[in-house]
Amino acid sequence: MSLYRDEGVVLRTQKLGEADRIITVLTKRAGKVRGVAKGVRRTTSRFGARLEPFSHVDLQLHEGRSLDVITQVETIRPYGEALVADYPRYTAGTAMLETADRLTLGEKEPALRQFLLLVGGLRTLAEREHEARLVLDAYFLRSLAVAGYAPALSECARCGAEAVRAFAIAAGGVVCGSCRPPAATVPAAETIALMIALLRGDWPLADASEPRHRTECSGLVAAYLQWHLEHGIRSLRHVEREQAREPGREWWPSAGEPGAASPPGAARGFDPKPTPNSHIFRA
Ligand SMILES: [Zn+2]
Repeated sequence: MSLYRDEGVVLRTQKLGEADRIITVLTKRAGKVRGVAKGVRRTTSRFGARLEPFSHVDLQLHEGRSLDVITQVETIRPYGEALVADYPRYTAGTAMLETADRLTLGEKEPALRQFLLLVGGLRTLAEREHEARLVLDAYFLRSLAVAGYAPALSECARCGAEAVRAFAIAAGGVVCGSCRPPAATVPAAETIALMIALLRGDWPLADASEPRHRTECSGLVAAYLQWHLEHGIRSLRHVEREQAREPGREWWPSAGEPGAASPPGAARGFDPKPTPNSHIFRA
């Protein structure tokens, strides 16, 4: 068995046996790794607190036959401490961890750009310079782009025409008048400009955007993300529940309501039927 070191962000943990945990980490070099942390649920464990979700850690692992064993942990940045006291930031961070987990399908397949995006997203969230939902939407758009699902935002996703108006999730982004499917939404031009700004990292433009355009942007990005994943991002519903407390923002269904999540297997591919969420965008 060989030893290796890597740094990574803890995505999730699960109990194993009496005192152990399986820790899922998105690492810088090896990609997603599942490692056993032995004895971490005992109160005397040196590791326990360092291996919580959100923690950016430096790890030493022993390669095992099925799962690797974590033998050393040093904390680089404990982002959980900065996020746990602020519910909107915490739920946005949880949605980032879940998305990073879902967009990196294979274990030990290097995913350096997804790792760097996640660390950057958590750091920006913890620094509190930009609204949590803007940071989350920027993270969603960029991680989708890295995964090969960048939405078309400046020319028609189907024919390349420059005069675009509607947004059609199944078509892959903005569409022109001739390519527009019946269920496509017609967002404000400022909303599309906000999406472009978030994808490019143009924070002055994003921070100056109006609340109604941010709300519309979040709806489009969330629906677009869900289209590209086989199941809904569960933690998004908590983000939405928080937003729904503000009047006029009840555009995203809660868990259990019609349209809350795509059925398993329905999201991939180019099904011509409207997505389960598309009713909320119809003009
Ligand atoms: Zn077109």
